Amino acid sequence: MTTSPVREPAAPSHGGRPRVVIIGSGFGGLFAAQRLRKADVDITLIGKTSHHLFQPLLYQVATGILSEGEIAPATREVLRRQENVRVVLGEVTDIDLGARTVTSTVLGRTTVHPYDELIVAAGAGQSYFGNDRFAEFAPGMKSIDDALELRGRIFGAFELAELAEDPAEVDRLMTFVVVGAGPTGVEMAGQIAELAHRTLRKDFRRIDPTTARVVLLDAAPKVLPSFGEKLGDRARRQLNEIGVEVQLGAMVTDVDADGIEIKDADGQVRRINAATKIWAAGVQASPLARLLGEQSGAQVDRAGRVAVLPDLTLPGHPEVHVVGDMMALDRLPGVAQVAIQGGRYAADQIKRKLAGREPLPPFQYHDKGSMATISRFHAVTDLGKLKFEGFIAWMMWLVVHLFYIVGFKSRVTTVLHWLVSFLGRGRSQRVATQQQVFGRLALENLGPEFEASKTGGPKTVPHGEDLTGRESA
Ligand SMILES: Cc1cc2nc3c(=O)[nH]c(=O)nc-3n(C[C@H](O)[C@H](O)[C@H](O)COP(=O)(O)OP(=O)(O)OC[C@H]3O[C@@H](n4cnc5c(N)ncnc54)[C@H](O)[C@@H]3O)c2cc1C
Repeated sequence: MTTSPVREPAAPSHGGRPRVVIIGSGFGGLFAAQRLRKADVDITLIGKTSHHLFQPLLYQVATGILSEGEIAPATREVLRRQENVRVVLGEVTDIDLGARTVTSTVLGRTTVHPYDELIVAAGAGQSYFGNDRFAEFAPGMKSIDDALELRGRIFGAFELAELAEDPAEVDRLMTFVVVGAGPTGVEMAGQIAELAHRTLRKDFRRIDPTTARVVLLDAAPKVLPSFGEKLGDRARRQLNEIGVEVQLGAMVTDVDADGIEIKDADGQVRRINAATKIWAAGVQASPLARLLGEQSGAQVDRAGRVAVLPDLTLPGHPEVHVVGDMMALDRLPGVAQVAIQGGRYAADQIKRKLAGREPLPPFQYHDKGSMATISRFHAVTDLGKLKFEGFIAWMMWLVVHLFYIVGFKSRVTTVLHWLVSFLGRGRSQRVATQQQVFGRLALENLGPEFEASKTGGPKTVPHGEDLTGRESA
């Protein structure tokens, strides 16, 4: 069902207060909204999901350590005490810089939001470097849906292996390939190895999960290249110790249901038979970045990020602020702190502008370091001149992540689940449903016509069949 666009009142709704529209409820968007807590403005925060997502711990949802709720609190609950914010569910499909409006849509309901100031923080998605067909067999890890699908695929592979008769099929089912040796790939491979070698050790009768093969591969010659040579080497050694095979200089040339094809640095092409493939390589900025580039004349780089001015605004549009993973400035990395600091900076600029004060000096990013866990009690932490590895780095990782998880309840339950997994051997979140595993592909197969039936609109479905067997969706 589609409706004609609803236009929000053109005049500010509460006594002529300036309207700030924020796109995205991730790190950039949420922290910008919170920074405007005491500002005399009306904020509309538009997100295509109803939750804020703490992406750095997605891999723990995928491997059964944490529940999705712990890393994805409802945005409106987080902001419930901030009365100047209205949270709106919807995917932004258009931004009109001339008319100063943002158009969002959800299930055929379209809304146009006028703004006086706009903060765009729509983040980035997965990039398959032009090979989008890989996505069918090698899901990425960017959303709760992705993490739950991967959880189902990982635990499901062991279940199927227990049933398989053919040893080659058992091997295929118990081989896990993670593509991309950056922090996400390293953390994911490390956790699958711990799952197989510790958690599931005694759970099966016919297979031995400790013989599972976990392969981490990357076309680049190094593990964790952004952490420098020393920490990268340490991480590689630790991965080997917990049973992860690290294959570098290995470029993925094809992915199918049964495995993955790789071209090595010497030109040799080989294949790994693996039921579970996980894509943790490459990001592509939200398509909104290109849209902003086209309208403002700002450059868009190969990763689809729009170049911003030093104050994070677009050329010719001091009222449009772009922050986080979708903006390009001074080769800043796509990490949470860039988005958080950028969101807060944009909010501060808006407050100063509205108070008639001088603008802030150009945005300056304060690098607080980076960290990646490899296994329980083992991480690497790069604080610039100070580098740590092992238990001390892992404790730092633990404290920092607990600090940034949103909400007291989530912190408490996260600690409990970590105790279960790291001190014990358990994983509290092993539920995997058919919908999690097959939902994405089923929706893709149903095609765009299915959109209409989701809204309770026209009941016709492709090919005239009722695929659900029910009266209405
Ligand atoms: C698996 C993984 C692990 C990571 N680990 C780390 C780490 O350990 N440390 C670190 O610093 N960084 C890490 N990152 C990177 C970090 O999460 C990002 O840099 C950060 O989230 C960027 O913030 P953002 O606000 O730009 O985008 P996001 O946090 O991605 O938020 C974007 C928001 O925009 C919404 N959105 C997107 N398109 C639209 C649209 N059209 N309409 C409406 N809403 C839209 C999304 O739903 C989301 O709410 C990781 C990322 C991933 C995927």
